[in-house]
Amino acid sequence: MLDIREAAVHFGGVKAVDGVTLHLGAGKIYGLLGPNGSGKSTLLAAVSGLVELTRGSIAHVGHTARRHTAADIARAGVARTFQTVRLLSDITVFDNVLLGADHADRHRPGVPDDRMRRWFHGARGNRQAAAAALERVGLAGAERLRPHQLPYGAQRRVEIARAIAMRPALLLLDEPVAGMNRQERTEISDVLLKLREEGQGLTQLLVEHDVQMITDTCDHVFVMNFGVLIAEGAPDHVVRNTAVREAYLGKRWEQHADG
Ligand code: ADP
Ligand code: MG
Repeated sequence: MLDIREAAVHFGGVKAVDGVTLHLGAGKIYGLLGPNGSGKSTLLAAVSGLVELTRGSIAHVGHTARRHTAADIARAGVARTFQTVRLLSDITVFDNVLLGADHADRHRPGVPDDRMRRWFHGARGNRQAAAAALERVGLAGAERLRPHQLPYGAQRRVEIARAIAMRPALLLLDEPVAGMNRQERTEISDVLLKLREEGQGLTQLLVEHDVQMITDTCDHVFVMNFGVLIAEGAPDHVVRNTAVREAYLGKRWEQHADG
């Protein structure tokens, strides 16, 4: 599904990602943990084609993507959400999600002499895909609202809906529960688990700081520090790893212990 080999992204002297090899299989939820500045967002940017690799390779669903554009990669079935909310404020929630569905549809191969019929069919199919995506994130009924009329947690779910409406094979989520309370976190976690249970082979890669979210949601976890992988494995196993606790979890666990 996703094969990253010896990937490096350097910004001048900053080695944001510096030789990461990892493999994601279909249908699972993967977690990516690591302290601030460890290169998680840069790795997602490389996977989605927003930054170029300094070296190494990334292959998605069989395409080796060293020189592909972000649009090529989206077309190949990679959707993502960003670390901060990025919704269009002048259009409705439904139309925001429809953008994802339209994008996927526009790039499907078609029959040139039957363009009009295809357009109508596509338009209806896209509206259904957008409605279904909103329903999956628990926001059926919010279609006609503007994004700012929703609470922050729901806005983040609209972004997930927009990504799902693209009918991706790989979904990248950069800190989808940052700034949320426990209940909102659980709601997002439930959405991701439901997507996995639907069994359509969707692979999810989730960047997250919240240890509980990771252990509740992920099948497999990768941990980065200073641009390299320092551990990977089953969530419970990884959070017990000494190097991981020293690099990252120690402080948080002490905070938890302090109450
Ligand atoms: P994380 O998401 O794990 O917090 P990032 O991938 O955002 O980490 O950043 C990794 C490192 O790369 C940081 O030192 C950051 O300052 C640097 N960095 C990220 N993007 C850029 C950029 N566009 N130009 C220069 N440095 C960058
Ligand atoms: Mg980040």
